[in-house]
Amino acid sequence: MNKLDSALVTAALKGGGFEIINLEKDADVVLINTCSVREHAEQRVLSHLGFLKHIKESKPNMVVGVIGCMAQRLGAELLKNKTVDIVCGPAQIPQITELVTKALQEKKRTISVTEKIRQLSPEDETLEEFEMVSDGDDSQLPAQAYVRAMRGCNNFCSYCIVPYVRGPEVSRPPAAIIEQVKRLAGNGVKLVTLLGQMVNAYKYDTYCLADLLRMVSEIDGIEWIRFVTSYPTEEYYEQILKAMADLPKVCHYLHMPAQSGSDKILKAMNRNYTAGKYLELIEKAREIVPGLAISGDFMVGFSGETEEDFEKTVSLVEKMRYKNCFVFKYSPRPGTAAEKRLQDTVPEEVKRERNIKLLAVQEKISDELAKEILETEVKVLVEGLSKKAGVNPCGEKGYPQLVGRTAEDWIVVFDGPINLAGEFAKVKITKTSPLTLFGEIQG
Ligand code: SAH
Ligand code: SF4
Repeated sequence: MNKLDSALVTAALKGGGFEIINLEKDADVVLINTCSVREHAEQRVLSHLGFLKHIKESKPNMVVGVIGCMAQRLGAELLKNKTVDIVCGPAQIPQITELVTKALQEKKRTISVTEKIRQLSPEDETLEEFEMVSDGDDSQLPAQAYVRAMRGCNNFCSYCIVPYVRGPEVSRPPAAIIEQVKRLAGNGVKLVTLLGQMVNAYKYDTYCLADLLRMVSEIDGIEWIRFVTSYPTEEYYEQILKAMADLPKVCHYLHMPAQSGSDKILKAMNRNYTAGKYLELIEKAREIVPGLAISGDFMVGFSGETEEDFEKTVSLVEKMRYKNCFVFKYSPRPGTAAEKRLQDTVPEEVKRERNIKLLAVQEKISDELAKEILETEVKVLVEGLSKKAGVNPCGEKGYPQLVGRTAEDWIVVFDGPINLAGEFAKVKITKTSPLTLFGEIQG
C-alpha cells in the first residue's frame, strides 16, 4: 500500500513539474512516506529525520515532509520536530504538490491531516481522482503495477493501527479500477496486483472480488493478476477461488495471514476465526486450486502468549506448508484496543527467540517446497538486475545476473540479457534455496 502511495506521489509531483532525484543532499524537497504498523518503522523515520537535520544545517531552505500513516497518527506532534516542514496524512496526499509548492514559496510549515479519519467520506472524490494519476511505473518494477481495490479497514484487529490511520473501508468503483488497469496495460504493464487490507471483502453494488478478477482478466496486455491481502473468512471465498481456478491470468497465489495458531490468542486479537477454521479454509483452497502457493503473516509475543500458545502457532505453520511467511514481533500501538486493555506480557528477548524459531520452522518447509521445483521449467516475469549483478555485471557467460518471479511469487535468479526486464522468460531451475530458485534461461 505504501509503495503504491509513493508511486502516486511521485507521479503527481512529476506532473506538477518536479524532477525526482535520488540523493537527498541534492534535493530541494525530501518526502518520507511512513508506516505506523510497528514502532520500529516509526523509530527509523525519527532517526532519518535526525540525519536530515544535519543536511538542513547547511541547506536551510530544504523542505522536509512526513507523509502517510505516521503523519496521520502523530499530527501536530511531528511539527514540534524543527526539521519537519510538512505533515500530510494518507487522505491528504492528493494535496501534496500544493503543499510542497507552498512550503517552498512561502517558507511556511504546514500540517494537513484528517481530524476525524473514521468519519472520512466514502465518496471522497479527491482521493478517487488522485488514484488515477499513476503512470504505470507504480512499483518501480518494469511491467508491474499496484492498483488499489479498497481503501481503509473496518476490522479493528485489536493490535492494529491501520483502521485509525487509514480510515473506514471503502471499495473503489469497478469502472474506475478497470479504466486504470486499461491505461496501465496500454503503458506496458503485464502484472497488476489489486490491493486492499481485506481485499477478499471487496464489494461494490453487486460486484465482488471474483467479478473484478474476471473483468481485469479481459483486459488485453494484462497477463498476470494477483490480489493481497486476504482475510480468513468464508464470505465470497469459493467464488474467488473458483475465479482463480478458471481464469488463466489469475496467479495461483494466496496471501492469507493467520497471525497465530492459538484460539485464545486469535480471540484476544479480535480475529474472527479459529486455527481449525483457518486450516479448513486452506484445505478448501487447495482442493479448488491444486498447487496453490500460500503465504502468511504471523505475530509472535502478543499479549498473554504463553509457550503453549506459541507451540500451537508452530504446529499450524508445520501443517500449513506455506511457500513463505512473514513473522513479526508484537509491537503495542498507541490507541489500539490491545494497547489500551491488554498488557504487553512477553519480554522482548522471548519475542525475538520465538521469531527466530518460527522462521526456522518455515525455512525448512520453504526449502522442501523449493526442491520440488528443481529440474522443472518455470515462467518468470523479469524484474531486472539481481543484487549480485552490481558486483559481477558480466556474469559467467557475458550476461548479468537477473531476478524475476514466478506466478506463484517464487524469486528466480538467472543470467540473461538485461533487455528482458519487464518481459517473460522461461527458466529451468537447477539449484534451490529456501527463498530463491536459481536456473538457466531456456530458448
Ligand atoms: N490487512 C492485513 C495486514 C496489514 S498489516 C491483514 O489483516 O492481514 C501487515 C502485518 O503486520 C499483519 O498481518 C500483522 O502480522 C503485522 N502487524 C500488524 N500490527 C502489528 C503490531 N502491532 N505489531 C506487530 N505486527 C503487526
Ligand atoms: Fe489491521 Fe486487521 Fe485491518 Fe489487517 S484486517 S489492516 S490486521 S485491522
